[in-house]
Amino acid sequence: MDEHLTTDVIVVGAGAVGASCAAQIARSGLDAVVVESFDGPAEGSTGRSFASIRAQWADSLNIELSWRSIQTYRDFAKNHGIDVGYRASGYLFLVPDAAWPAQLDAVAMQREHGVPVDVLDLPAAVRITPFDPSGIAGATWGPADGVVDPHLATTAYLSVARASGARVLYRHPVRAIAADQETGGWIVEAGDRVVRAQYVVNAAGGWAGELAELAGMTVPVAHSRRNIYASAPGATAAPLPMTIDLGTGVFVRSEGSRLLFGAARPDQDDGYDVSVDWPWMERVLELAVPRFPWLADLPLDRSGCWAGTYENTPDHHGILGADPTAPTWVNACGFSGHGLMQAPEIGRLVAEQIAQGAITSIDTSALRLERFAAATQTNQLGLVF
Ligand SMILES: Cc1cc2nc3c(=O)[nH]c(=O)nc-3n(C[C@H](O)[C@H](O)[C@H](O)COP(=O)(O)OP(=O)(O)OC[C@H]3O[C@@H](n4cnc5c(N)ncnc54)[C@H](O)[C@@H]3O)c2cc1C
Repeated sequence: MDEHLTTDVIVVGAGAVGASCAAQIARSGLDAVVVESFDGPAEGSTGRSFASIRAQWADSLNIELSWRSIQTYRDFAKNHGIDVGYRASGYLFLVPDAAWPAQLDAVAMQREHGVPVDVLDLPAAVRITPFDPSGIAGATWGPADGVVDPHLATTAYLSVARASGARVLYRHPVRAIAADQETGGWIVEAGDRVVRAQYVVNAAGGWAGELAELAGMTVPVAHSRRNIYASAPGATAAPLPMTIDLGTGVFVRSEGSRLLFGAARPDQDDGYDVSVDWPWMERVLELAVPRFPWLADLPLDRSGCWAGTYENTPDHHGILGADPTAPTWVNACGFSGHGLMQAPEIGRLVAEQIAQGAITSIDTSALRLERFAAATQTNQLGLVF
């Protein structure tokens, strides 16, 4: 027989975003239940991510969300006694001539937010990551950017959530959601349980649209496959930080003794697909080798490659906050490939929304769901990459 639970908040999804939401909701004094389809945490996009974090964005909101999150990851061990694997290994943007003025404007904005960022000439950049500088005007370097361990970050937040009383239920796919007319909350069927909750947090990653559909709502999020290709171990002499060629979109970085690389496929179809796209690897190498000629000689290792999905929205920015038609439904989804780097702040703001009734500490209005319904989209958010 179905077991019934009652809680203040049901968080759907135990990826980095759901875990952060659960921890910060529970720490605000509310009861929280996390439900997750998979057998464990971080088995969706989170565990398949590239683990890179950066505060180098081109708009105030994304700079603020990322920079605050990086500092949270950096201070996690001090504040919670758990190392989430933050390493300030840096993040290098190689910027073509045409994009250079906009990049310098972005640097000025980042510095206004207190983000450490250096503008490098080509010799200085080449000393960090060897590359052919043709067509590149300069580079920017974020010394506090780097990596965080997606699994550690997620399990750390879930530990904090549990320590504050939250329950985490794996193998509990949500299959039905109904509005609770009596309370204004929700009745959620998840696995063999029925959970009555005052609030739903939609942290279902690339499945956020399907989850919302169960409740009769539209949330435009779609899976979009991304591939990471790997060299054999020991293929590079020295470790390389995250480096992006903004001209081609190719990125490279070391992980242990492997070199990892990739680039988004522009004609990638939507849909959940975590099989590695081998033909696309050949095209990425064609794009990458003129810029990083040493890639041509690297021994590749198919067993080290993987694919996962971004959780894309139409404008590639997240959806955050209460649904305009149902204020007890809170979206925290669609961060389109930057959910890991912003998860700490997303969780903090979702907790603020629920505990205080509104997000007031930062202006997140640009991330409202309503923007997709507007006749003309006037989003002031900028994408660096
Ligand atoms: C190859 C690749 C590289 C990336 N690189 C980076 C990077 O460098 N930096 C960065 O910040 N981000 C990166 N990302 C994106 C990042 O992984 C995501 O933005 C982030 O993980 C989103 O976290 P999430 O918790 O919202 O989603 P997920 O981790 O997908 O978690 C959502 C969870 O919800 C669960 N769920 C869904 N529907 C239901 C349901 N009906 N019932 C119960 N549970 C449900 C799913 O099972 C899943 O576990 C990358 C992604 C990929 C694939």
